[in-house]
Amino acid sequence: MLVAMSVGATEEELENVRSHIRGEGLTPHESHGMERVVIGVVGDVGARKERVMNKLSSLPGVASVTPISRPFKLASREFHPKDTIVRVRDAVIGDGTLSVMAGPCAVETREQLLTTADAVKAAGGTVLRGGAFKPRTSPYSFQGLGEEGLTFLSEARERTGLPVITEIMERSDVELVARHADILQVGARNMQNFPLLTAVGRSGMPVMLKRGLSATIEEWLMSAEYILSTGNPDVILCERGIRTFETSTRNTFDLTAVPLLHHLTHLPVVADPSHATGKRWLVRPMALAAVASGADGIMVEIHPNPDEAWSDGEQSLTLEMFAALAPVLRQVHEQVSGLGQDPAMAAGINRRGR
Ligand code: PEP
Ligand code: MN
Repeated sequence: MLVAMSVGATEEELENVRSHIRGEGLTPHESHGMERVVIGVVGDVGARKERVMNKLSSLPGVASVTPISRPFKLASREFHPKDTIVRVRDAVIGDGTLSVMAGPCAVETREQLLTTADAVKAAGGTVLRGGAFKPRTSPYSFQGLGEEGLTFLSEARERTGLPVITEIMERSDVELVARHADILQVGARNMQNFPLLTAVGRSGMPVMLKRGLSATIEEWLMSAEYILSTGNPDVILCERGIRTFETSTRNTFDLTAVPLLHHLTHLPVVADPSHATGKRWLVRPMALAAVASGADGIMVEIHPNPDEAWSDGEQSLTLEMFAALAPVLRQVHEQVSGLGQDPAMAAGINRRGR
């Protein structure tokens, strides 16, 4: 439920509301707006709902108490109408600018990573990606360089100034990965690894949560809720395609998810046309389509020599292809941003929707 405080409610009244919420074994999560404070009440309220709502309504300084209709609470637009903006080093994600995240599927060698990082920087990319721990379908495939790969990512970060995003698969790796990266990526295969979600949440670092291979939007947002409920507000969602009956592409790119998520949640939405399509020549058109649909950012895999890549070469762009794509992405973003909102859409329903 949502407790909206009156405009001008005092700190004492706020503290009284917080302590009542805690007294019920529930957790208050505050959102400080321009005018008033809204408190999201999170926890298993069950049959006590009516009594708790009545009690909170009667407290001094409370303007209204309303139930949140969605199963995800902190992730919902109802709780947090304003867009969440994630800031990491010089990069800003979700503020209406376009984030361009690029890099190799896997960190292979120091030279491969530094060459790629320089190309990302030169093309105006905003975040460097690269996997050091790779979730591979086969146990015999290259599993990533591990800690050595992380040290190469750190070096690339120092060299270019680009923030680094990399995947984390184990709870016990949080501290290690946090030393070398700026954004923790939870991959599709771990979207419902709940202990991992709690651990990355508690790290306090920005987290990019990729959509599970066959996850519904609601399941995905419930996973985001796990991270948010640890008190970490910096969650980014990444649509990377889902499993359907169609086998012509690696996955089916669900671009409807982009405006739908902007309607349901305040969290930034990034789209990954590389894993969604699995084919290099499909990446550019689908990246452009994702930007046109209102995505806050794009994540693409690039490689100095894709045909020799140790993983996902077929879907990796060459550095030249990326250099040609990046300005076009920005052009489309600029055009689409200037179009304004759908006049038929009720105000505020989809803040970034076109
Ligand atoms: C990746 O981005 O490196 C990756 C493994 O993607 P996904 O989790 O979407 O399959
Ligand atoms: Mn990959």
